[in-house]
Amino acid sequence: MLNQETIQALPKVELHCHLDGSIQMATLEKLAKKENLPLAELKKAVAPKKCHDLKEYLASFDVVLPLLQSAENLQLAAYDLVEQAVRDNICYLEIRFAPLLHQKKGLAVPQIIQAVLTGIQAAQKEHEIHVNLLISAMRHHEEAANLELINSIKQLQADAVVGFDFAGDEQQVGNENIKNCTDSALAAGLKLTLHSGECGCPHNVVEAIHLGATRIGHGVAIKDSPDAMVQCKKNQTLLELCPTSNIQTNAISDWSEYPLRFFLKEGINCCINTDNRTVSQTNLVNEYSLLVKHCQLSFAEMKQLNLNAIEGSFAEEKVKQAVIEKIMTSYHN
Ligand SMILES: [Zn+2]
Repeated sequence: MLNQETIQALPKVELHCHLDGSIQMATLEKLAKKENLPLAELKKAVAPKKCHDLKEYLASFDVVLPLLQSAENLQLAAYDLVEQAVRDNICYLEIRFAPLLHQKKGLAVPQIIQAVLTGIQAAQKEHEIHVNLLISAMRHHEEAANLELINSIKQLQADAVVGFDFAGDEQQVGNENIKNCTDSALAAGLKLTLHSGECGCPHNVVEAIHLGATRIGHGVAIKDSPDAMVQCKKNQTLLELCPTSNIQTNAISDWSEYPLRFFLKEGINCCINTDNRTVSQTNLVNEYSLLVKHCQLSFAEMKQLNLNAIEGSFAEEKVKQAVIEKIMTSYHN
């Protein structure tokens, strides 16, 4: 039986975690004081336990973004997030964020990405964890701006920037509208993971696979589409499930409907993530504990979910092998 202590002690892998939604409250308070933002405002950084829809959930980011407009603050935020992951006993982490949301005070994209990388590197020097970075484009931004973003990433040539993502409201801008950008990202050598199937739209998952995504952010909507399930199975597409967030945004109505058991039974490749630690008031230990409670997750399944995560990660082969070895030696009864 998996208890909280066991879950805590086991090495874990996380692939879907947003920087802006995951800065711990103490750090947000520090940044708010520095930027003269009233501390009471920070309450809004936590989303209601049950949101009407994804849009209401995304509103929580509005209060955090004004605090992340300087290189120093971005660096602090990235450092803070890696430290939280270390407390979860995560040995491999992929952080994602959208550089174009951090230009309100005139920072250029390379400065923004570099600041986050500096924060990550500082934390990595102090802790045994490997961290890579994914760059998110926003669906509501102009295509030209997103293409320019990809160009900047290419020029930066940072080894730790390994993948590209689209986030935001997929009901407004679906995957049929982003092909130029995803083609350009793939041509720049970036791997693709796309937020899809979070708003009851399984066709977006199928479209994402056609665009070349090997991973899907959430993807839970495929549970109602045999065709989308077949596509995911055929391509071994990895679904980055974020249970608390999926229920909070109403992608899934409640725990009794959570499709993890169904996906495991059907052979759908998936892994477990937090999405937004602060917005959703969670961490990775908590996500696994909830799955034990509500979906009867077993020890062997937790091991498999973490192996799925590292195998589907965008890490280089050497890093993957080291993490797989760590999981194989740590998960024994
Ligand atoms: Zn997400």
